[in-house]
Amino acid sequence: MEFKLDTRLWSTKARNLNPYVPGEQPQHENLCKLNTNENPFPPSPKVAEAITSVLINQAHQLRLYPAPESNDLRQALAQVYNLDINQVFVGNGSDEVLALVFASFFLKERPVLAPDISYSFYPVYADTFGVNLVKIPLSADFSIESSDYRQPCSGIIIANPNAPTGILMSLEAIEKLVTEHPNAVVVIDEAYIDFADQESASAVGLIDKHDNLLVTQTFSKSRSLAGLRVGMAFGNPSLIEALTRMKNSFNSYPLDRLAQAGALASVKDVEYFEQTCRQVIELRQQLVSDLNELGFSVLPSQANFIFARPQQGNASEIAQALREQGVIVRYFDKPRIKEYLRITVGTTEQNQRLIEALKQTVEV
Ligand SMILES: *Cc1c(COP(=O)(O)O)cnc(C)c1O
Repeated sequence: MEFKLDTRLWSTKARNLNPYVPGEQPQHENLCKLNTNENPFPPSPKVAEAITSVLINQAHQLRLYPAPESNDLRQALAQVYNLDINQVFVGNGSDEVLALVFASFFLKERPVLAPDISYSFYPVYADTFGVNLVKIPLSADFSIESSDYRQPCSGIIIANPNAPTGILMSLEAIEKLVTEHPNAVVVIDEAYIDFADQESASAVGLIDKHDNLLVTQTFSKSRSLAGLRVGMAFGNPSLIEALTRMKNSFNSYPLDRLAQAGALASVKDVEYFEQTCRQVIELRQQLVSDLNELGFSVLPSQANFIFARPQQGNASEIAQALREQGVIVRYFDKPRIKEYLRITVGTTEQNQRLIEALKQTVEV
């Protein structure tokens, strides 16, 4: 239905919102969708088994509210990451967890620092929660320099690996940030960390040592469960308690019964998880070398996407030409990155389709 927008009854807050624009989710068949960093592999078959089992054997339980704190899932995560259950928080996707982080830790009086090129939801949350976000420019090579963050703040938020660059920051640099800001919450958004080459890239192991470090992760990328909406945060129990209180002041049952059962099954299937992550890493290496052959320069990615710059031609026009061939990649019309395309690592077939489409488009 067409309607004429009337904001007369809206709150001032609603009128001033500046919402995040998610990557498009076109529904056509036969589209090669490499624009929103979803995993090319299906989730562990154990996930469907667990959800089906709830539906078949315990359907009557859907009339009851789910476990409010998702204790079974949090316990399983604690075990895998060698933490205590009170160091684990879960929410309806890490986007929700991040919203609760902004509401819980980032004060109005002191700013929050974030890289100028990063996940574009951070400035949106800052607006929504009335937080002053100060953007710290990435270095010329797009890396994050911890010494650039030496200024008063109530928090720092960094995606690691960063998006859309894919570049990984070292644990030493992260620990330096955390140590230099004892009175700020340092949030490391590890949405893509499971695609790093080394297994020890995650900052989760530093939590016991630093009470101001909060690490967020998600089931959406490395666990192929973007459609289930499960994300988590790991940190000192006092930080987790703040998130829990904020959650219970907003939505006390963020994870439904099916999501809890599916996520739990995914966490338990360690072998499948490790195997699919390894496959994505191998596919990334192949994709990078194919793109290099076509003259693209590709930033060193440790994620399930790459950020690539064509040797010649205009990135925006290339994205459009790919779209006409049914291949969707992400283009950001923003300063410093308008020469780049962000391309999700797909299956062997998807990546080949991308490369073939590029061959029709760019002059080698
Ligand atoms: C995908 C992504 C998220 C959000 O993941 P959900 O759990 O699906 O909400 C958070 N941070 C970054 C950097 C992401 O790329």
